Amino acid sequence: MRMRKKKHGAERIAACGALLIDDTARLFADPQYAFPEHRPLALEIGCGKGRFACGMASAHPEMNFIAMERVSDVACIALEKAMAQAEARTTDNLRFLIGDARNLSEWFAPHSVSVIYLNFSDPWPQNGYRKRRLTYRDFLERYRTLLKEDGILLFKTDNQGLFDFSLEEFAVCGLTVEWSSRDLHHSPYAEGNVMTEYEESFSSKGMPICAAQVRFS
Ligand code: SAH
Repeated sequence: MRMRKKKHGAERIAACGALLIDDTARLFADPQYAFPEHRPLALEIGCGKGRFACGMASAHPEMNFIAMERVSDVACIALEKAMAQAEARTTDNLRFLIGDARNLSEWFAPHSVSVIYLNFSDPWPQNGYRKRRLTYRDFLERYRTLLKEDGILLFKTDNQGLFDFSLEEFAVCGLTVEWSSRDLHHSPYAEGNVMTEYEESFSSKGMPICAAQVRFS
């Protein structure tokens, strides 16, 4: 996601400090430290402008959500959205982390996360860049380490090429695809689906959404 550099980005992020996880050493020691109550932990990687994370946190008060984004200007928009909605949210269960998925194992202790969400991850269409795709086998092995034993990954994309590649990578890593669909919105798995910004944009243009749920055990 390309963005022009935000003016006063650091100040704007600091104003949302109540929702920002900034002590990653503490996070590693206690993945729930930023939340008032312990609940199963869901992690969204590449949350973009935060619509999905905000929607899921409201719809699932039984979970705690950490939304991660590597581009701070984009994370700033997500943080401001979440701050604006904070009072309407009945449960204090959403926090943000600014950083790159490559460093996940420094921030999350093994077996600390119940669910990982990957939504409309960058497709990196050139074969030479396939190792950057967030469903490349090295990333899946990182997810395996930080997920609980019965942990799951939920993946959505508009990109058929990335979807095909991801299904191959799931097989290479011996993961179980519990369900998959090449047209999520017209499938039985649409119930309870919370749309992301990209999903809204692609589906409003008539593009089908691919999705899969993968179990690591
Ligand atoms: N999930 C959002 C945004 C999709 S665009 C939506 O569906 O609307 C993909 C997002 O993932 C971008 O904001 C990009 O900055 C972020 N991203 C890509 N690689 C990442 C990585 N390695 N770690 C964290 N975030 C990443």
